[in-house]
Amino acid sequence: MNNKKILVTGGAGFLGSHLCDRLLECGHEVLCVDNYYTGTKSNIIHLLSHPHFELMRHDITFPLYVEVDHIYNLACPASPIHYQHDPVQTTKTCVHGSINMLGLAKRMHARILQASTSEVYGDPEVHPQPESYWGRVNPMGSRSCYDEGKRCAETLFFDYHRQHGVEIKVMRIFNTYGPRMHPQDGRVISNFIMQALQGHDLTIFGDGQQTRSFCYVDDMIEAMLRLMESSSLFTGPVNIGNPQEITILELAEKILYLVGGKSKLIFLPLPSDDPRQRQPDISLAKSKLGWAPKVALDEGLQHTIAYFRSIGLSPSQNC
Ligand code: NAD
Ligand code: UDP
Repeated sequence: MNNKKILVTGGAGFLGSHLCDRLLECGHEVLCVDNYYTGTKSNIIHLLSHPHFELMRHDITFPLYVEVDHIYNLACPASPIHYQHDPVQTTKTCVHGSINMLGLAKRMHARILQASTSEVYGDPEVHPQPESYWGRVNPMGSRSCYDEGKRCAETLFFDYHRQHGVEIKVMRIFNTYGPRMHPQDGRVISNFIMQALQGHDLTIFGDGQQTRSFCYVDDMIEAMLRLMESSSLFTGPVNIGNPQEITILELAEKILYLVGGKSKLIFLPLPSDDPRQRQPDISLAKSKLGWAPKVALDEGLQHTIAYFRSIGLSPSQNC
């Protein structure tokens, strides 16, 4: 791999910080841009003295003028409680942020990768979801700022590609977990682990029969790097995730078993527009990127539990 100047937006977040680690290991220069909306300096503190790492506080809804070869556009809150906290800002980050980053890519003739999401499929009627499926998304609901924001971002990416020849890579990320998830982000794996570690009840929303497919962060970052380095003719969209599907009830039981302790399972109302099922069809990723996930759920959960144990049980210290 040739050494490049690489911009990572959202680089102080969960996925972004792991991506910065890997890019530096590959010998690149990394400019990490973040407004710390959900990310924290603690995620990248170990990189601050690295000679090829630079950190900039910046909100991508405002233009950015820097010199780079590649852009990974990850900036956007990803957990429902965070993206619903300020839904207008979420849509602005997806739409204005993408316009600004695509404008930068156009000016610099830089390749740009968009962290899109399985949420573009909404509550799907097609299962598992292939990239050709257009989705079933509520345009007015509590998840719409994120779902429709990310759909509009995809539209912008493909229009900049067709209209201006920008080299794009669109990656549809399915639920991903691992160390450096925010302990209070409300996502199911961080919630269940924190609850089990603290001896609190595990909160299952609905009857727990809804499904998700969870990908470990190392597998996700490997796919991201492969996609960025793939042929310029391949734009995606490409699904990246682990096809192993599990019900939320089974997940709760598994985490409780792995953590140990005396927590109980309790059932709470299902949030609105919560998808019933989700599983990626990763045939395209396999054929175009030679990629498939390697880390099994039990192993990934063990690493994640060890991380949450290591940061202690006072999440406020890590916010
Ligand atoms: P995260 O919340 O940990 O990271 C997002 C980062 O973006 C944070 O550091 C946050 O401070 C920053 N940010 C938010 N708005 C910004 C703005 N306007 N300007 C600059 N920085 C801003 O989330 P994550 O899990 O690391 O997700 C990263 C990307 O991957 C997001 O775009 C998300 O939509 C996408 N994604 C993640 C998952 C997942 O399961 N983790 C699934 C699908 C898609
Ligand atoms: N969920 C749950 N208990 C929690 C948090 C989430 O049962 O404490 C459920 C949630 O309703 C959803 C699934 O777990 O069905 C995954 O939720 P998450 O917010 O992690 O991701 P997303 O819904 O965006 O896939």
